[in-house]
Amino acid sequence: MIEKVPALARLCKHLQGIPYLASKNLYRVATYFLTEKPERVQQLCNVLIEASKTITPCSVCCVWKEKERECVFCADLRRDHSIVCVVETWQELIAIEKTEGYKGVYHVLGGVICPLEGIGPEELSIDVLVNRVAIDTRIKEIILATNQTPEGEATAAFIARKLRGTENKVSCLARGIPVGSSLEMMDKLTVYKALSERRPF
Ligand SMILES: [Zn+2]
Repeated sequence: MIEKVPALARLCKHLQGIPYLASKNLYRVATYFLTEKPERVQQLCNVLIEASKTITPCSVCCVWKEKERECVFCADLRRDHSIVCVVETWQELIAIEKTEGYKGVYHVLGGVICPLEGIGPEELSIDVLVNRVAIDTRIKEIILATNQTPEGEATAAFIARKLRGTENKVSCLARGIPVGSSLEMMDKLTVYKALSERRPF
C-alpha cells in the first residue's frame, strides 16, 4: 500500500534510516507527523537542524556541548577533576547525574567494542581518554562505569589494559547492577550505590 502513496513511502524510508526506531514504532512515528499541525512539525524540523549544526562532542570529555560555549563539565571548577567516570553514552551519564551523588567529571566513549557490529576501539574515544589521562595531572582515579554486559566488560578490560602503567587508580562499579543491564534503566539509588561502593578494577 505504502508504495502507492509516494510521499508516505518517502517519509517511511527516511524514518527507517534512523537507528533504534523499531519497525513497529516506525508507523506510529509516521502517524504522529501526519496528524500533528504543520507548524509543530516545522518547529521540530528547525530544532533538529539547529541541534545538528550547533551541538558537538567536547574535545576533552566527548560529552555533547554547544560549539560556541564551554563544556558544562570541563569548565565547571566546582566539580572534582581528579575523578573521571567513563560511560558508554550520554544516556548513562544522565542516569549518574540523576543520583546527584557524583561530583567528578566524565568521559563518554560513544559505545562499546563490538566486533560483530564492526565497532573496534578506534571507533570509540578510547585514545582521547588515554591522552587525557596522560596530560591532565589533576586526574587521580578513573571509574570504568561501562554497562555490565559482555561488550561493556570487555571494553572496560581493554581500557584498563591501556591505562596500565599510569599512576592512577582504576576502579569499576560495585556488583549489584544486574548482569546484562544498562545503567540507563536502573533506579537512582542502585546507580548511586554502585558508584559509591566502587571497587578496584
Ligand atoms: Zn568536556
